[in-house]
Amino acid sequence: MASSAEVISLFEKYVVPNYTRYPVCLVRGEGSWVWDAEGRRYLDLFPGWGCNILGHCPPRVVRAVQEQVARLIHVPNTWYIEPQGRFAEALCSRSFGKAFFCNSGAEAVEAAIKLARLHTPEQRYVIITFENSFHGRTFGAVTATAQPKYHAGLGPMLPGFRYAPFNDLQAVEELIDEHTCGVMLEPVQGEGGVNPADPEFLRGLRELCDRHGLLLIFDEVQTGMGRTGSWFAYQQYDVQPDMFTLAKGIAGGVACGALIASDAVAPSLRPGMHASTFGGNPLAMAAGLATVETIEEEGLLQRCVENAELFQQAFSAMKDELPIIEEVRIRGAMVGVELTVPAAPVVAQCMERGLLVNATHDTVLRLLPALNLTREEAEQGLEIIREVLTVAANQADAPT
Ligand SMILES: *Cc1c(COP(=O)(O)O)cnc(C)c1O
Repeated sequence: MASSAEVISLFEKYVVPNYTRYPVCLVRGEGSWVWDAEGRRYLDLFPGWGCNILGHCPPRVVRAVQEQVARLIHVPNTWYIEPQGRFAEALCSRSFGKAFFCNSGAEAVEAAIKLARLHTPEQRYVIITFENSFHGRTFGAVTATAQPKYHAGLGPMLPGFRYAPFNDLQAVEELIDEHTCGVMLEPVQGEGGVNPADPEFLRGLRELCDRHGLLLIFDEVQTGMGRTGSWFAYQQYDVQPDMFTLAKGIAGGVACGALIASDAVAPSLRPGMHASTFGGNPLAMAAGLATVETIEEEGLLQRCVENAELFQQAFSAMKDELPIIEEVRIRGAMVGVELTVPAAPVVAQCMERGLLVNATHDTVLRLLPALNLTREEAEQGLEIIREVLTVAANQADAPT
């Protein structure tokens, strides 16, 4: 097998350099553990950027894909296939409406934008989104993403978006006019720093949308599929959107995205108006169904809630000791620790000690652990984080 250095040299020569990568080549994973080409093992509390919601290579998903890949790899959407019907049933029977399948989060967001415009009268095309949001990188999705750093140099952006501060109902109300067709937001902003929506804010948005005939769209690409301790985050807020997007973890790490739209709205995505060649393909559908079955049968929504309590206690205790921790924001298996210092060096120090975590929004240490993380694994990871943050706190204290 090639060494990390050999693989890195291939990338330097042949791969577009649009990603900042750690100088490590990963070769194998099992649950919350991964191994690099040199045989070093890491505890992964950010598996697959949240896509590996059951950790690496969950056995039931592996088996489902292995069985499916030998039967049918791909068939276009001009035919019926049982796995797509079954996975749609699995998602919609746990939420509502009907499913459209695609391959990524950005594509799910694009489908939502198109459906919102198609479902409302023609002069209504503006969607209100929020500061610090993240919706993906295609032109519609990145325009919806109200963070200037993601727009720099790309202009002109797609027309038809207006931005409001998150959790500010009055600001949304002021933006609504005769061109508005919808409001889109993440129930818990992920990339923007793990910022939960206030329950009154979501309830207020639902009322505003009903009053003005607008569609309420939740981007649950990160929060969906059990990530926050319920199948979908909206269920904890008890506010039902007209549609919501899914991707990242929905197929246990296999590429897949979905838009779930209410029965009233779904038919507006009529034949000829939208499609995805690979959307709803047999492999992704088999993997998705196996993911739902695993979460259900292993009681992982409950485990997620228990792990959240463990993380909450551990980080609250650290916060009492370490002044570099400003705030702890946890919703299920979404953990954000706001620091007073940049988070990237903390992530690098954790990696040196064999722990994989993430930094977002400059100063937020972020974890998206697998739903099946064990208590022992959580404690091992927390111990390393405590060590690293203690060193960072001492450095922050040291006179310069
Ligand atoms: C990751 C993410 C996306 C984009 O998903 P891709 O699969 O990378 O296109 C969209 N919305 C949210 C909330 C996300 O976290």
